[in-house]
Amino acid sequence: MRKSEIVVVGAGIAGLTSAAILSKKGLSVTLIESHTQSGGCAGTFKRKNYIFDVGATQVAGLEKGGIHSRVFNFLDIPIPEATILDPACIVDLKDGSQPIPIWYEKNKWIAEQEMQFPGSRRFWKLCNLIHQSNWIFANNNPVLPISNFWDFSQLFKAIVPSNLLTGIFLKATIFDLLRICGLSKNERLIKFLNLQLKLYSQEDVYNTAALYGSTVLQMCQQPHGLWHLKKSMQSLSEALESSLSKTGVNVIFGQKVNSINFDDLNMCWEVSANSKQNSFIYQAKDLIYTAPPQSLHRHLKEPLKRNQSYKNRLNNLPDPSGALVFYSALKKEHIKKISSNHYQFVSPEFGSLFVSISDDGDGRAPKGEVTLIASIFTKTKDWFELDKQNYDRKKKDIIKKISLELESQFDIVPENWLHRELATPLGFEKWTNRPNGIVGGLGQNPDIFGLFGLSSRTPFEGLWLCGDSIYPGEGTAGVSQSALMVSKQILASRGIENFNL
Ligand SMILES: Cc1cc2nc3c(=O)[nH]c(=O)nc-3n(C[C@H](O)[C@H](O)[C@H](O)COP(=O)(O)OP(=O)(O)OC[C@H]3O[C@@H](n4cnc5c(N)ncnc54)[C@H](O)[C@@H]3O)c2cc1C
Repeated sequence: MRKSEIVVVGAGIAGLTSAAILSKKGLSVTLIESHTQSGGCAGTFKRKNYIFDVGATQVAGLEKGGIHSRVFNFLDIPIPEATILDPACIVDLKDGSQPIPIWYEKNKWIAEQEMQFPGSRRFWKLCNLIHQSNWIFANNNPVLPISNFWDFSQLFKAIVPSNLLTGIFLKATIFDLLRICGLSKNERLIKFLNLQLKLYSQEDVYNTAALYGSTVLQMCQQPHGLWHLKKSMQSLSEALESSLSKTGVNVIFGQKVNSINFDDLNMCWEVSANSKQNSFIYQAKDLIYTAPPQSLHRHLKEPLKRNQSYKNRLNNLPDPSGALVFYSALKKEHIKKISSNHYQFVSPEFGSLFVSISDDGDGRAPKGEVTLIASIFTKTKDWFELDKQNYDRKKKDIIKKISLELESQFDIVPENWLHRELATPLGFEKWTNRPNGIVGGLGQNPDIFGLFGLSSRTPFEGLWLCGDSIYPGEGTAGVSQSALMVSKQILASRGIENFNL
């Protein structure tokens, strides 16, 4: 039996960040990760001479004042080396019109919007107004959704007058904003927004919460921006791990948590975990759970029997998507027409393909070569219902279809692929322990975003949720914000009030 003040389940960005913050504040922390490395969906794997980013390929929040940079400053560790993405992405609607580069420089992006979507200025201005108001609010570190008076007091402190105005959009969608601006029939703009929003909110214009969508649509521009990490995505986790070792976090790899119970005698949480050979038990007053909340059914069986309404809440969570990710490598000279690290284009077969290409010499591939990663959303059950033969056949077929689309998009000669492989939801389940390989948290529609989402504070005292299903949502920046929120709540419950970065 090993005791600490805090046990954190999962060493993805949410778990690493919360463990690092709480340990820096002087609490004893044990971090348990089932994999042999950290990073989760923002990790990497090595194949031949290549390092592939498993899921996340671009990072928000590294700029001064951004959430990663605030966390790194607080932890007193260097921010990993990264370059700003300009353009952040080039979006090709495949309708014969010019592809749309999403520029970093604000005025250049405004000019592009006007050229690409004439008459849309009002919509972008409205999004920007909502975003400005959101941003001040988010930087005041609110606790959302509210579960008790303390959470409410934090929300109250975070609210600024402009939030009262933008609050009228609480239940609105991005499509409502388009309607207000007289653009509800602008098919080209809707097509563009559908592609981009699906990436960040898992929803389309008709279902993305206006308050969420307005902000993600501004993340590529100054003063924010998206970043490309040197070496690989793993450098974000490695930096956080360096803080854990400085502050003495007990980091345990290769142990899978299989059950969580409350020990009434010792008044603490008891976590059982297994390695390949042994089983272990850990105890702590506070437990931060960063696996998807859908996994709680498996891990929190006994406590959930005593709280049917929470069990029902978990049962009724919407079914998130899975991902298919194509990992490949080529000589740089064999990919034509590239002027950005990221592309998104309409695909007749898959709806859309999101493509990330490494920089020559950035550490992911030998000199003169690059990695090319393409991802699409998929229904997880389409993959779990197959027998081995059909699964292998389907995988082969998808690799062929994705290759064809990329060959046509970037003038790639088929013989020039140096490496190709595909991860399906089965692979994601194995890699990240996410049930059925679900990724990206809950869709950000008005019924689930912010005030209406799943709270980090559970009905079980001392059991906290954190990660991409919790406010403010997916992405390494989002889960870092949720890690900060949960850390604040735990510190306050231990009498350390007003903790901020
Ligand atoms: C294909 C894809 C592309 C993406 N692109 C981007 C992008 O470009 N930019 C961006 O910001 N975000 C992107 N994201 C989203 C981003 O990667 C995630 O939102 C974020 O990394 C989630 O972090 P997390 O810590 O909440 O969860 P995870 O990364 O899932 O970490 C949870 C950790 O918990 C561990 N774990 C789970 N169960 C157990 C258990 N029982 N016992 C012990 N350990 C356990 C897992 O192994 C894992 O390491 C992408 C995601 C995917 C899948």
